[in-house]
Amino acid sequence: MDASGVAFSKSLSIVVPCFDEADVLVEFHRRLTSALANQLVDIEIIYINDGSTDSTADVIGDLRKTDHRVGCVNLSRNFGKESALSAGLDHARGDAIVFIDADLQDPPECIPSMLDAWRRGIDVVAMKRADRSSETAFKRASAFAFYRLLSVLSDVDIPENVGDFRLLSRRAADALRSLPERNRYMKGLFAWVGFKTVELEYKRESRLAGKSKWPVLRLIRLAFDGITSFSIAPLRLASFGGATVALLSVCYAVFVVVKTLVFGEAVAGFPTLAAMVAFLGGVQLMAVGLLGEYIGRLMIEGKGRPLYIVQDVQLPAEIPVRRTSGLIDNSIS
Ligand code: UDP
Ligand code: MG
Repeated sequence: MDASGVAFSKSLSIVVPCFDEADVLVEFHRRLTSALANQLVDIEIIYINDGSTDSTADVIGDLRKTDHRVGCVNLSRNFGKESALSAGLDHARGDAIVFIDADLQDPPECIPSMLDAWRRGIDVVAMKRADRSSETAFKRASAFAFYRLLSVLSDVDIPENVGDFRLLSRRAADALRSLPERNRYMKGLFAWVGFKTVELEYKRESRLAGKSKWPVLRLIRLAFDGITSFSIAPLRLASFGGATVALLSVCYAVFVVVKTLVFGEAVAGFPTLAAMVAFLGGVQLMAVGLLGEYIGRLMIEGKGRPLYIVQDVQLPAEIPVRRTSGLIDNSIS
């Protein structure tokens, strides 16, 4: 019921992927619930415990005891954030779903404005980082380079500086669920499904506690995943590079022959040969490596393994209905 007593049946699922977030979860939950306190919507909050090794599972268990809207999906090991988000997507039952990080870098206070956009009929509300000043210069520079490269190479338009913090309507969520691929480059998939989308700007805060689970190597891997799962341009680049090198070699051969016939100059054989062999060898290895990347992806898709394995799930039987009329929060059961 909303404040005027009119039935308001919309519900919202909040999906929070957590990997070793015991230090921040209580504060996160407090800020989340107070940000949502005045919202006229039934909510469930699903914490996805992505194989945490600290006491994250216990902290979520405690939250469940004090707040009946909390649900928990424990994965059998650490599958990575992208899979954790997919697990959340599969278990969420709301008319809309919000994905939010547990470390309070995505401020829960933004959710009401996301809900406003959704109520106006928007399917995807993507939160755009207006200011990345809290991140290291290296991370900012590499993110900038990555987004540039991806937008040049990729066939779908993947928006810049938009992360996983977003709201999806039920139909956008169902569309996303229907995509069969294993390789979940979520930012790209979100963009791929389309629908009415708006971007809202927000300021990304620093992590409240703990540390980022994205070391440089893992970020590079994510960048590679993003490019290879959304573009075959690199393959074309390999063919194009190969053709260019072959053409240049032919020109060079003609030049050498002409030089010998016309000017009678002897050909200095070995250095030319060595340089060409090394160069061609390098180009070929690169092209083969690139092919390997794509074939590897085919293999992973071909195996058809699930994205994640669930160890156990504890969800409220259904999305708890706000028990009070008016604007009073009902977080304590
Ligand atoms: N996360 C996860 N599984 C992982 C790595 C991260 O569920 O394997 C979660 C993490 O708990 C956090 C969110 O994904 O809620 C974002 O992770 P993090 O803060 O480490 O990434 P960053 O903000 O540095 O991009
Ligand atoms: Mg973070």
